[in-house]
Amino acid sequence: MEFLPFTRPSIDEETIADVASVLRSGWITSGPKMAALEAALSEHFGGRPVRVVTSATGAMEIALRLIGLQPGDEVITTAMTWVATSNIVINAGGKPVFVDIDPATRNIDLDLIEAAITPHTRAILPVDLAGLPVDRDRLYAIADKHGLRVIEDAAQSQGATWNGRRIGSFGDLCSVSFHPNKNMTTIEGGALVMNTPEEARLFEKWRLQGVTRLPDGTMDVDLPGGKYNLTDVAAAVGLGQLKRLDTFNKRRRELADRYFAKIDRTLGLALPVESDESNWHMFQILLPLDRMTISRGEFIARMKEAGVGVGVHYPALHLFTYYRGLGYTDGMYPHTEHVGASTISLPLFPAMIESDVDRVCDALSAVLTPVLRD
Ligand SMILES: *Cc1c(COP(=O)(O)O)cnc(C)c1O
Repeated sequence: MEFLPFTRPSIDEETIADVASVLRSGWITSGPKMAALEAALSEHFGGRPVRVVTSATGAMEIALRLIGLQPGDEVITTAMTWVATSNIVINAGGKPVFVDIDPATRNIDLDLIEAAITPHTRAILPVDLAGLPVDRDRLYAIADKHGLRVIEDAAQSQGATWNGRRIGSFGDLCSVSFHPNKNMTTIEGGALVMNTPEEARLFEKWRLQGVTRLPDGTMDVDLPGGKYNLTDVAAAVGLGQLKRLDTFNKRRRELADRYFAKIDRTLGLALPVESDESNWHMFQILLPLDRMTISRGEFIARMKEAGVGVGVHYPALHLFTYYRGLGYTDGMYPHTEHVGASTISLPLFPAMIESDVDRVCDALSAVLTPVLRD
């Protein structure tokens, strides 16, 4: 039986043909396709200004410029995320301030944010882990009360909703990722949704060397921007993907429903929240490690032998070597550490079929049943 990876992008022939036509067109870097993708994304996000870049990491780096983050400023976030969320704050001279997660949602625990606010706090950087949205009403109530900016790390939640409204179509700055593992891809890429045309113009400067084109054909540079522009080849991939995002997400939801129906509940796995508002970027379970006679590493190896690829998203980031060097240590964020030590991402991508889910569930039972203590 063919190996089932934990994720795989779906690129259709029409998109491949479109990429080929860009390659033949004589203009392959940022140009009309990039502009078309930005226009389509703006419509997707309720008419708000959107600009694309080569990664979500880059989009968030520029977001920190837009909010004017200064050395020493603090940003409140979660350690249960891809490490980019935190690295960008450090690279901008700021300080990530972690609070623990809510063990039910595995997202930042909003109850802990106010106690972490200091005179240096500038922003909150929430992450919608696995596509499950953080409570936007409570998030923005806290931000507004304390005059804080919000940079939503929605890398995993494009197409998810809060109270029926699409994430990114309201709120402050919102970043999405087009990495191949995300719900839509440009191969590599990301975008920032902003509030005003002025922010979008400033974003464009940070995106490309600080350049402003002048009417007389010359240019000026008034800030030291970077190099983040997305190519038209990548944008052509994104245009083909964006059209299918809703279909992809609907399919992900169906597959998630099948997991809920088919996973053997006696195995003691902690399942994700059964949310209608998630985009089902990932289906993550927690292993009952204290009842298991094998490690997570051995579990992953045995699933692989059974033909099923699984992922770990993510080890608690404050326990990485670099972060330990900053003084973070075990026991600081117990729920984050518990999830980090026991989480497993099961295969979930739109091209899966029902029998793939059944295969995964059968493999879970076959691998776990012999290694569970009572
Ligand atoms: C993927 C991801 C990122 C980074 O996205 P890139 O496009 O790879 O830079 C940031 N945060 C989270 C939560 C992610 O899942």
